[in-house]
Amino acid sequence: VIQFEQVEKNYGSLKVLRGISGYVNRGEVLAVVGSSGCGKSTLLRCLNRLEVIDRGEIIVNEMNLSQTSLTHKQLRELRSNVGMVFQQFNLFPHLSVLDNLTLAPRQVLGQSHSESGERAQHYLSQVGLLDKAAVYPEQLSGGQKQRVAIARSLCMEPKVMLFDEPTSALDPELVGEVLEVMQTLAEHGMTMVVVTHEIQFARDVADRVMFLDQGRVAEEGIAREVLTNPQSDRLRTFLSRMR
Ligand code: ATP
Ligand code: MG
Repeated sequence: VIQFEQVEKNYGSLKVLRGISGYVNRGEVLAVVGSSGCGKSTLLRCLNRLEVIDRGEIIVNEMNLSQTSLTHKQLRELRSNVGMVFQQFNLFPHLSVLDNLTLAPRQVLGQSHSESGERAQHYLSQVGLLDKAAVYPEQLSGGQKQRVAIARSLCMEPKVMLFDEPTSALDPELVGEVLEVMQTLAEHGMTMVVVTHEIQFARDVADRVMFLDQGRVAEEGIAREVLTNPQSDRLRTFLSRMR
């Protein structure tokens, strides 16, 4: 579903991604780990074309993102196929939970009120928040906000979900409920790329893991194996700092 080859991305003279290759098969979860500034968010943003790459190739859902210009239609197709959940939940504060969920399906997919409403209820119940449909984001806990943000993405019925440290802004006691929702999503066969510092989650839920170091893939492989028995000193050091 996702394939990238020798991806390079610079910000001015700063080389952030220095030739990164990888893939995610349908129904797979890829975890991306690495220390701050190694390029994890940049990679995710490139996969969603929030950033345009300088060199290399990215293919997402059979769409080639490497070309310098995409049509408006292609971008819209990409964005509705690829859901993204950020560290900050980015809910619309002036809209109820239900309206947060139905907005894009109505505006982008042209769904009716009733169709988008039914879909919203379906995904709200999947994240365990059906009873919060009428409230506003400020009335929710951080964990609930993030679950709403996930449900909102799911309402677009994306083929791929990208997560950028979805639990790092949360109080520790709220992390579990969000990881649980993500685990369920993975078990339902969603294709996911998850940037995370939750090593245990990556080990238990991800199929494969990619460890980035200074814009390069320093180690990768089966998540359980790599994270239990790292081969490189750098990953060993990184993991020992995480615990
Ligand atoms: P963190 O774990 O802190 O989120 P990260 O691995 O996600 O880190 P990135 O956000 O991808 O790291 O950033 C990689 C490097 O690129 C950093 O040095 C950052 O300062 C730089 N960078 C990121 N976005 C921009 C931008 N829009 N303009 C200039 N430099 C940027
Ligand atoms: Mg980041």
